[in-house]
Amino acid sequence: MRGEAIIIGAGIAGLAAGRALLHDGWEVTLYERTEGLPSSGTALGMWPEAMAALERLDVADAVQSTGMLQHGAAFLRPDGSAFARIASKDPAYLISRPALHELLYGDALEANVRWSSAVEDIAALPNADLIVGADGINSRTRHAITDRRNSTRPLGTVAFRGVVPGPVDKATETWGNGRLFGITPHDAQTTNWFACVREDVLGEHDGNLPDAELLAELFHGWHSQVTRVVKEADSEQIDRRVLQDSTPLKSMIRGKTVIIGDAAHAMAPNLGRGACEALVDAVRLADALGAAKTIEDGLHAFDRSRCRAGQRTARVSRLLNRISTARHFAGLRQRTMSALTRFA
Ligand SMILES: Cc1cc2nc3c(=O)[nH]c(=O)nc-3n(C[C@H](O)[C@H](O)[C@H](O)COP(=O)(O)OP(=O)(O)OC[C@H]3O[C@@H](n4cnc5c(N)ncnc54)[C@H](O)[C@@H]3O)c2cc1C
Repeated sequence: MRGEAIIIGAGIAGLAAGRALLHDGWEVTLYERTEGLPSSGTALGMWPEAMAALERLDVADAVQSTGMLQHGAAFLRPDGSAFARIASKDPAYLISRPALHELLYGDALEANVRWSSAVEDIAALPNADLIVGADGINSRTRHAITDRRNSTRPLGTVAFRGVVPGPVDKATETWGNGRLFGITPHDAQTTNWFACVREDVLGEHDGNLPDAELLAELFHGWHSQVTRVVKEADSEQIDRRVLQDSTPLKSMIRGKTVIIGDAAHAMAPNLGRGACEALVDAVRLADALGAAKTIEDGLHAFDRSRCRAGQRTARVSRLLNRISTARHFAGLRQRTMSALTRFA
């Protein structure tokens, strides 16, 4: 099936869906509220399922040559000793968000994206055979198709992330009391980092401190890799956000409208899967429409294949967010993680 598609949002989900549908012969228009592609951003881990989706989108080779290969990660205690390791047989790649956007956009979508075009009301859009809401965690499209205003839930944690000079070759995540600190490669010159801290832990510190000083307090006395990154972090460039995920949905479709990516299942960042799920949604949507006799059949097939799957990943991400930032039972959670990673 093919026809005219309108996509709301030119983030990872929207660009990937635009690329896949265009490739399959659809006429595609994307509406994006920002002025252009993002110029800054931290690293995103592309797991094997995401790499398969990127293959379908003809950008896997470019991601492999631009990104940094990762075979696993070590989980550490604040003193630097390891309590678990994940080793993945199929490699994952770390790529910066702007580089991934650039590759998905490529030459393919230049004529199709309307920048600085926020969609206020999906009922006022021009006529189309298909409307794809790829408008992120606070999706208006989701509100329109579910009639619900409240589609997010707090996770009780705050994320800080950034990039500092100097490379690292291994990914580590260090878990402490109510907080964690992650370090991954970013590119040959820089290191990507993120911290996740419980709101009640933050409440015990001076709320007026600049972020870099706050992080120095929160991670004082941790092992040398964390101390090195915290020392380099610059408050001006730290991305700080209160974390939320989506409330579960019964369906991602209504009539000729479908929501994908964070619009459907925004998740805690702890599994590093949100962008990967967005890519998988985009290619499965195009595949389901391509295989179906009618758009309606295609949308139903897509909904069956992705609605529960996305929410399952979101549930596990929420659980990991809780476990990794728990304030008590440090030994128990480390043993649990160690046991789980033996089966990963
Ligand atoms: C701290 C943190 C770390 C993360 N790390 C990882 C990781 O390692 N790996 C991973 O896979 N994922 C990771 N994620 C998740 C990932 O960032 C998201 O899942 C992903 O960006 C979702 O893509 P999306 O296109 O669905 O939504 P978005 O990236 O939010 O894109 C939505 C787009 O829609 C546009 N838009 C919104 N409303 C409108 C409107 N009304 N009209 C027009 N345009 C509109 C926005 O401007 C935006 O461009 C992380 C997230 C966080 C917070």
